[in-house]
Parts: sequence; structure tokens; C-alpha cells
Amino acid sequence: MTQAPLPPYDWPELLPGWVWLCGAGPGDPGLLTLHALNALRQADVVVYDALVAQEILDWAPQAEKLYAGKRGGKPSAKQADISLQLVDLARAGKRVLRLKGGDPFVFGRGGEEAQTLLAHGVNFRIIPGISAGIGGLAYAGIPVTHRDVNQSVTFLTGHDHTGQAPGSINWRAVAEGAQVLVIYMGMKHARHIAGELLAAGRPADEPAAVVCNATTPDQQVLETTLGRLADDIEASDLQPPAILCIGRSVLMRQALDWQALAAGQPPRNPDPLGTMGFGGD
Ligand code: SAH
Repeated sequence: MTQAPLPPYDWPELLPGWVWLCGAGPGDPGLLTLHALNALRQADVVVYDALVAQEILDWAPQAEKLYAGKRGGKPSAKQADISLQLVDLARAGKRVLRLKGGDPFVFGRGGEEAQTLLAHGVNFRIIPGISAGIGGLAYAGIPVTHRDVNQSVTFLTGHDHTGQAPGSINWRAVAEGAQVLVIYMGMKHARHIAGELLAAGRPADEPAAVVCNATTPDQQVLETTLGRLADDIEASDLQPPAILCIGRSVLMRQALDWQALAAGQPPRNPDPLGTMGFGGD
């Protein structure tokens, strides 16, 4: 299969014995970076995670594909296995592409994999990707920052390596300090998380959204409030992967749900924050 050349640029070469640790974006293959595409064209082997789209893998027809997604078992041992598999492949002289969902350094254990490579003397390159907490929300029409809403955004994980709600998060500090919260892996512990935030004083009517399978044809969005979040998730048929967003940014979807606009629906509210003043600057 002949492939169209990449645009002119001094593209780096994926050399034998190297591992490129690469983000694949949140789902839509079009959200891949050109560095990722350049890597797919050169790889001998692609070690990929569960959330990487088949179309993306098809862009490396020459490469062997190895699935490294979750299949149960002890997560920590599993992670070590994956990292050591990368070491073995590199030592066998392969051009190795390690493809992870979103961005490899955002709740993706990419740091651990890179450390293992370093410890074994394997050369590596990091290729960032569009993280689900940013790109996924954008596909739902939710800007993670908006001048009239927030000057900061807090990214959180909804569970730690044991699968529990993370004990290391100071929920009171988060509740008091975080303007907008973007929570990865938060579905399972949504009730616990919402409960902590409410107990620490976040208002029950604060806007909240759940964005499932963001950027894919199966994208589903639930708009709710912090107080109703857990009940509404339970009453829905929504399944992970999902990003939770808590904060007034969620209101912007009433104006910026661009997929609904593209389908011919009028905006529900062109000025959800009441800051545009229609005709103002
Ligand atoms: N490195 C990834 C995150 C890995 S953790 C990134 O930067 O995006 C896996 C979690 O990411 C999922 O549980 C979910 O919370 C989120 N996620 C990844 N892809 C998603 C998608 N398409 N839609 C919604 N959430 C997604």
C-alpha cells in the first residue's frame, strides 16, 4: 500500500532499538498529531492501549500490533509487564511505537514507562497527544477555560492505582480552590467525589457534565448539576470512558455545542453566562 507523503518537514526517524511513547488523542483519528502519523509510518511494532481507534492502527499496515490494554489481573504487575515488553522489543532491534490514549503523560502512566526505558538504557522520544480532558470537552462544546468563567482548571483522577477514590486528594482544598474541575476515570466514584465536594461547600446547583466516548461517533453528553450528578449517571446508560466536568464552563455548551449546530439545531442559548450583551465587544 503506497501512502501519501507527509507535508514537507524534517521528520524525525524512528530508529531500530528506539521506543517512541506517543499519544493517540481521545478517539477521533483526526486528532492524532503529525508526529504520531510519522511514527505509525515507520514502526515495526505498535504496542497499543484499549482506547486507541482501529483506524489509527490501520495507518501502520506494515507493523505488528500488540494489545496492551486492561485484561484484568493485578494492575501494577501488568504495567511492569508492558514496560518490560517495550524494553525487550527495543533490545530486539525493533522500531517500537507505544501508542496510548490521549496524552501519554496525563493519567496515562507514560512517565512510568519512560522511567523503565531509561533504567534499561533504551532510547525514547515522547510525542504528546490531545488529552481527553481538553479535546473531549471541546467536542462537547465545553471550553476548559473561558475568560468569563475561570482563570485556572484542575485536572483530577477519580481513582488511584488501587481502584479506590484517591485518598491523596484534599477534597476541601479542591472544593475551595478549583474553579473548574475536569475529572478523569470519575464515573465509578462519582457519588463519592460529588459528596466530598458538596460537603466542602460547592453548591448543589453547580453545573456538571459527563462526556462519554468523547470525539467518537458514540459520544454522549449528560448535562446536570453537582447535586444530581451521581443519581443522573445511575439513571442513565452511560458507560466509561468518560470525563466529568464541574463548573460554569458546562453552561457554555448551551451556546457552543457545535455538533448540534452542525446538525442544524439552533443554539439553546447564545449567551449562557449573560456576559456577551449582544452587540458589545
Ligand atoms: N492519557 C489519557 C487518559 C488516560 S486515563 C488522556 O490524556 O486522555 C483513561 C481515562 O481518560 C478514562 O477513564 C476517561 O476518564 C478518559 N478518557 C479517555 N478517552 C476518553 C474519551 N474518548 N471520552 C471520554 N473520556 C475519555
